[in-house]
Amino acid sequence: METIDLIALRSFTRRTGQPTHPELLDVRPIEHVNKIEIDEEHITIEFDEKTDRYYNANEITKREWVYKYNDDPEFVKAIAKVIDLARKNFKVMPENITCPPGCAECCSGYEPFVSKADVQRLADHLKMSYRDVVKEYVVERPSADGYHVGWLRKVTDDLADKCVFLKGSGSGHYYCGVYEGRPHDCGEFTPIGCDDVDEELSHEGEYKTGAPFRPKRRKAAATRAARR
Ligand code: SF4
Ligand code: SF4
Repeated sequence: METIDLIALRSFTRRTGQPTHPELLDVRPIEHVNKIEIDEEHITIEFDEKTDRYYNANEITKREWVYKYNDDPEFVKAIAKVIDLARKNFKVMPENITCPPGCAECCSGYEPFVSKADVQRLADHLKMSYRDVVKEYVVERPSADGYHVGWLRKVTDDLADKCVFLKGSGSGHYYCGVYEGRPHDCGEFTPIGCDDVDEELSHEGEYKTGAPFRPKRRKAAATRAARR
């Protein structure tokens, strides 16, 4: 574990040879981040330093960097950058682990956070305005760093209920109705350590999904047009 004291960047530079300005920090150690912990004084980032792949298994060497915290605006900016980079690399997904198609247990009870980019992607996908997507499908609760605007709604106010975009007729037959436009959180979700996996489901055979999610207004317009 190495402590990077961004309050005393000059000594950090002397010791490591890294540039002093936070914007120029070497961000290589932020690849393959597994865990970010923030307490009153430190931000700890656990990441994979090295991955060796063997048949059916991966051996991963882990490492931690600790960033010492203060409320200096430049430091806050540097940490925001570190967290942003960490988020982008927040994945370790051995190729041999996959979800059984149709499971989607995690699309109930889990609220994917959405950034502005996620909302815009959903808006483009559903051919709606940014504002309408927020109004209809997002519970607005901006995060302190301004990265997230809120999280996806459920079909009811019960948090354990299904995601508003989840489609399918029953257990083992679910699918995401906005797959190509789904939030980053959903795309990066991994089954590693998942306790909810539906063990009954098979990985074999072809899994057929149905019609994509349609916004209510467009669905109503399509129904009206079909009746004419
Ligand atoms: S957007 Fe799709 S993948 Fe994400 S929680 Fe909803 S149904 Fe699941
Ligand atoms: S196995 Fe786990 S992570 Fe994968 S779809 Fe099922 S509940 Fe979600």
